[in-house]
Amino acid sequence: MTQPLSLELPSSPSPAALPAGDWEEPSAGFAGAPDARLIAQMANALFSAQPGQSAPSFGVAPPSLPLIEAAPTGGFVPPGVPAPPSVGNVTPVPQVPQVGPLAAAPAAPPGNPAAFPPTVLPGEPDLRGVLNQLGDVVRLVPPGHGIEPPAAAPEPPPGPSTESPPLLAIELRPDLVPDLRGTSSRVGVFDAHAVKRDFPILNQQVHGKPLIWLDNAATTQKPRQVIERLTRYYEHENSNIHRAAHALAARSTDAYEAAREKTRRFLNAGSTEEIVFVRGATEGINLIAKAWGERNVREGDEIVVTWLEHHANIVPWQQLAAKVGARLRVAPVDDSGQIILEEYEKLLGPRTRLVSLTQVSNALGTVTPAAEMTAMAHRHGALVLVDGAQAVSHMPVDVQALDCDFYVFSGHKVFAPTGIGAVFGKKAVLEHMPPWQGGGNMIADVTFEKTLFQPAPARFEAGTGNIADAVGLGAAIDYVEAIGMATIAAWEHQLLEYGTQGLLSIPGLRLVGTAKEKAGVLSFVIDGCRTEDIGKALDGEGIAVRSGHHCAQPILRRFGVESTVRPSLAFYNTYEDLDALVNALRRLPSARGI
Ligand SMILES: *Cc1c(COP(=O)(O)O)cnc(C)c1O
Repeated sequence: MTQPLSLELPSSPSPAALPAGDWEEPSAGFAGAPDARLIAQMANALFSAQPGQSAPSFGVAPPSLPLIEAAPTGGFVPPGVPAPPSVGNVTPVPQVPQVGPLAAAPAAPPGNPAAFPPTVLPGEPDLRGVLNQLGDVVRLVPPGHGIEPPAAAPEPPPGPSTESPPLLAIELRPDLVPDLRGTSSRVGVFDAHAVKRDFPILNQQVHGKPLIWLDNAATTQKPRQVIERLTRYYEHENSNIHRAAHALAARSTDAYEAAREKTRRFLNAGSTEEIVFVRGATEGINLIAKAWGERNVREGDEIVVTWLEHHANIVPWQQLAAKVGARLRVAPVDDSGQIILEEYEKLLGPRTRLVSLTQVSNALGTVTPAAEMTAMAHRHGALVLVDGAQAVSHMPVDVQALDCDFYVFSGHKVFAPTGIGAVFGKKAVLEHMPPWQGGGNMIADVTFEKTLFQPAPARFEAGTGNIADAVGLGAAIDYVEAIGMATIAAWEHQLLEYGTQGLLSIPGLRLVGTAKEKAGVLSFVIDGCRTEDIGKALDGEGIAVRSGHHCAQPILRRFGVESTVRPSLAFYNTYEDLDALVNALRRLPSARGI
C-alpha cells in the first residue's frame, strides 16, 4: 500500500505520536488552503460557546487549548476577522474572537464551493460550515503519525503450525468508496484515534484489557455528544409534544421535529412528511408489512427477498404471506455472498408486489446492488423496501438516488440510542396507506362513530413516541455528518482491507462472505474451533465480537455453517484494534496447531 495522503485535523498531538515540527508541514500543492488550526480554533470557540453542547472532537484541539500561536502559512481568514498587516514575508495570524463572527456559516473561499448547503437551524452552531472549511485543509501525514498506513499482513509465527491453507485472495472494490488518498477533491478530515475519545464507553478495561469494540453490527456505541443531548433534553426540554401550549411543549416539539428534519437530510428524502419515527428497523418493516402489505398484497401475489436478509426482513413477510396467501421468493447469492442478478431478475414478474432487500448484509457485509435491483423491480411494477439497518453507519445513503419506495433503519446501529429508528416512505405511497396502530397523536378527529386520521407521518405515530431518543438520533446524525459519511466509508474500507489481510494470515481461517462489494463486516470460521469458544477467548482479551447466527440463519446455512465469528467495524476502530484481534486469534490453540 502506498503511503496514504490522509487528512488530519490539527489535534493536540501527543509527543509520542507526532514528533515536533512534523505535523506543521503543509502538503505541497495546497498553498492558500485555509489554516487548519485557525479554523479549528474558531470551531472550538463556537462549540464552547454553546451551553450544554460538546464539540465533536475529530481531532480538534480541546477547548482548553490556548488560542493559536502561529500558523505556518497565511491561510484562510474568516469573514469578519480583519486581516492583520503582513510583516516581512511572514503573515501573522489574525486574532480570532472567541465567538461571534462564525455564528453564521463562513463563506467558502473562492474555488472551494461548500459541499453542504447551509442548513443551520437558528441557534445551532454551524458545525458543517466550519468543518467544510476544515475539509479543505490537506496535510500529508507520514506513516506512523496519525492514521496508520495499512501495513503488510503480520508475519506468521515460526514453528510447525505455520503452514496455512492457500490464501483466498480477496479483492475489495475501492471504487465503491470515495478515495481518502485522493488529492484532487475535497475529502473529510479524519483521525480515528481522536474520534474514539468522543466515546466514553470505549475508554475502559474489560477483563483487565482495554476494551476493543468490534461488535458494531449488533449495536454501536454512543458519542458524548449524543449522551449529553439526551441529558439536555431531560433537564431542559422534556414534555409531551404537539399537545400543550406551554414553553416546554414547544421546546420538545421543536427538538423532535428538528430530529425528523435531520433524518430527512441524512437519507436525502424529499420531505419530512416522508419520515416516520419507529422503534427501529424491525418495527419499520412490520409497519410496512401491516399497513401497506395487508392492503396491497393478495392471494397469489409474490414478495421477493434475498438470501442475505436479516430475520427482521424475512419473518414479517412470511407472516403476511401466510395471512393473505401470497408467496415468498428468495434471490440466491453466489459463493462470494453477492446476489446473482440474473437469478433475481427471473423471480420478478407480474405477480411481484414487493421486493424487500438489505443494502448491506449484517452477517457477511455484502453491499448489494440496491439501486439496480430497485430499478429492475420497478420495471415489473413492484415496490421496493430497502433495509438500511447495516448501511447507514457505513456509507452515504440517498433514498432519491436509490429510488426505493421504503427505507428503514435503526438509530442504535448509527451511534444513536436504542428504541428509535425511522421509516422513509415515498409520499405518494404513504398517503395511500392506512394506519397500523390506533390511538392518540395519529387522529384528526374522533367520535364514537368515526375517526379521521392525520396525514403521514403522524398517522403512523400513534401514542407518545420516543421523543428523547429521536432527539438523540438527531444528535447522532449531526455527529456522523460532521465527520462526513464519505470519509467514514473511505476509512472503513481501509480497515476492511487491512483486517481481511490480517485474518487471512491465520491458519485454518475461512472468511464467510468474500464479495468484492463489502462494508464493515468480517465473518469467519476457523477449522477445529467452535465459534463461541473463539468469541470467549477474544472476550478474555477485551475484544468484543459477536459469535452466533447473527439473526440471519439462512445465509449462514447457504455457506454450510450454523454460526460464525463476526468482528464488525465502525469509524472509531483503528488498525491497532485489528492487530489486537489478529494477534489474539494467532494465540488460539488451533492456530498454534495444538
Ligand atoms: C440489526 C438489523 C436489523 C434489525 O434491527 P433492529 O434494530 O433489531 O430492529 C434488520 N436488518 C439488518 C440488516 C440489521 O443489521
